[in-house]
Amino acid sequence: MTINATPIDVPDSQPSAREVLAPTPNPETVPFWQAAAQGRLALRYCRDCGRHHYYPRVLCAHCMSDAVEWRDAVGRGRIHAFSVMRRAPVPYAVAYVELEEGPLMLTNIVRCDLDALRIGDSVLLCFDTFEGGALPVFKPVAAAA
Ligand SMILES: [Zn+2]
Repeated sequence: MTINATPIDVPDSQPSAREVLAPTPNPETVPFWQAAAQGRLALRYCRDCGRHHYYPRVLCAHCMSDAVEWRDAVGRGRIHAFSVMRRAPVPYAVAYVELEEGPLMLTNIVRCDLDALRIGDSVLLCFDTFEGGALPVFKPVAAAA
């Protein structure tokens, strides 16, 4: 299976409005975090079944093959489900984004009117930065201009 997708422009990054704890990479996720620090969302892709999976694993989540490799996501998706944490010191949205490549990704929706979010909204990859790295998050397409 060949993915013919045009990458979006280099995503913007900015410090998070809320405190984000730095992740602790393990050997399976080091390349994911290295890619994020470079402004890329790296997914695991299976050469046997032709599907992506998320979160990163050594074996394909669909067929258990070990013929998996890293591929950059195009950085587009749709909100599959979300919840707004209004009681936090800085309200924020947690969401499952259905990536264009197929997997659901647990992430945050940022830089938007939290009251305007709707299931099915198109979103674009961007990054929240923290000391030493970056966290892949998404923003509504309407907020991308
Ligand atoms: Zn597979």
